[in-house]
Amino acid sequence: MGETPYFVELDEALEICKKTPLQAVTERVSLDNSHGRILAVDLPSKVNDPPFDNSAMDGFAMRHEDTVDAPSTLKIIGTIQAAGQEDNIFVGKGEAVRIMTGAPIPNGADSILQIELTSVNGDEVTLQQPSMKHFIRKKGENLQESEIALSAGTYLSPSRVGLCATMGHSSIPVVKKLKIAIISTGDELKQPGEELARGEIYESNSFGISGLVNWLGHESIRMQCVGDTIDDLRDTLNQASTQCDLIITSGGVSMGEWDLVRKIMEEEGDLHFWRVKLRPGSPPLFGLWNNTPIFGLPGNPVSSHVVFRMLVAPWIRHNTRANGPIENRAVAKLTTKLKSTADCLTLRRVSLQTVEGELLAEQKIHQGSGNLASMAMSEGMAILQPGVEYSAGDMVEVMFL
Ligand code: AMP
Ligand code: MG
Repeated sequence: MGETPYFVELDEALEICKKTPLQAVTERVSLDNSHGRILAVDLPSKVNDPPFDNSAMDGFAMRHEDTVDAPSTLKIIGTIQAAGQEDNIFVGKGEAVRIMTGAPIPNGADSILQIELTSVNGDEVTLQQPSMKHFIRKKGENLQESEIALSAGTYLSPSRVGLCATMGHSSIPVVKKLKIAIISTGDELKQPGEELARGEIYESNSFGISGLVNWLGHESIRMQCVGDTIDDLRDTLNQASTQCDLIITSGGVSMGEWDLVRKIMEEEGDLHFWRVKLRPGSPPLFGLWNNTPIFGLPGNPVSSHVVFRMLVAPWIRHNTRANGPIENRAVAKLTTKLKSTADCLTLRRVSLQTVEGELLAEQKIHQGSGNLASMAMSEGMAILQPGVEYSAGDMVEVMFL
């Protein structure tokens, strides 16, 4: 292994990765194409939100002082709809205006009563109770013009995309999607849909990792699966390094004779570390292939997912100044005792359930690192510190799956 750091702590692994920068470029996209992307700049509002005082209710607008002695009867002098064209209406003493939700408050009025608490008789309205000043949504109460509501690095969730529109932006600068090659390795792998021969299994990692890449707002390029042949692997890595910003392989990073990703990186690549104190997922490597960063993830499906979540994602997010949505963690109470591996930060798949206001984490399913069903059926992963025996009732950090 020479000087290459070996079996490093997760934090140390991340620090080593961070020494290799990924160039994050900015591009402008329409709002329609911005879902799930990462905002590249601090985004100021072009307008006040709301842009004018408006009604929070369908009902009537009037002077509050005319309604204090309920029931009161007022004269209806007009109607203001949401677009509010009629700005020459003035509400005087003893008068009311029919108003729709979102319509501008007419001059003179200072309050609203919702339609359910009124009865109309000809051109008069009777109010069952005094009107409400707080049913007026004030100009700029949500956002002031030029206020920065979304900062660089924000993950563009549906409500945030909506907010971009509210602020008057039709297109926004986002981090250009990184092109990430995904290469599965192993002679035993068959594509789903094909017939399995003895000894073969369906290739699943590239699909799961591709989903994780997309989830981070990047583009996954699932390359042809590679058998355990060093020449094929070399060709595929060369091809990926010319097309992509980052290469992620799965399989072939353990100690075995056929673990060719490790072997080729040792002999022909630039290896920055191999193996991490993480369970499941201890065999990963990181380095450069033709100057393109490469993560070698373990072949076991649960392990590759864990390594992506704990190491690959934080590094990509660091490079793109991204924050969220990966911050979905909580503290939960264990319902059973759990033991971590000595030496390794240990992640256990758990079911999460809220019972009487408490978030409970229960390990129900067998934890083999090849058992992808156990991950798919769990809501979270409990993060256990190395070499600790946790008792039922202990509080642990969980990461949502
Ligand atoms: P390896 O690290 O190549 O020894 O693989 C470890 C285990 O993960 C073996 O049981 C492999 O069959 C399995 N495996 C490797 N790659 C994949 C993949 N792409 N999809 C599903 N299972 C895989
Ligand atoms: Mg293999």
